Amino acid sequence: MKRSTRTADQIRRELLRPSEEDRVCSICKEPYAGWGNNAWPVNNGRCCNDCNWIAVIPARLRDMHLQEDLRAHKLRREKRK
Ligand SMILES: [Zn+2]
Repeated sequence: MKRSTRTADQIRRELLRPSEEDRVCSICKEPYAGWGNNAWPVNNGRCCNDCNWIAVIPARLRDMHLQEDLRAHKLRREKRK
């Protein structure tokens, strides 16, 4: 049985290290330094710190409030039954 010559450690390093072209913000399309941030729910890519604060976090908060509003709305409807 032939086994991969790469060690688990090498594979882990490859997975963790984003390639240079991956380090472009998926929102503003500018290159960024460091790991970046998860751009969800704006999109499925990664984004720079600026876009994280300007776009991603407000979008997440909106989404969270919407879920809460819907839950409250459902509860009110249940009570009326
Ligand atoms: Zn950006």
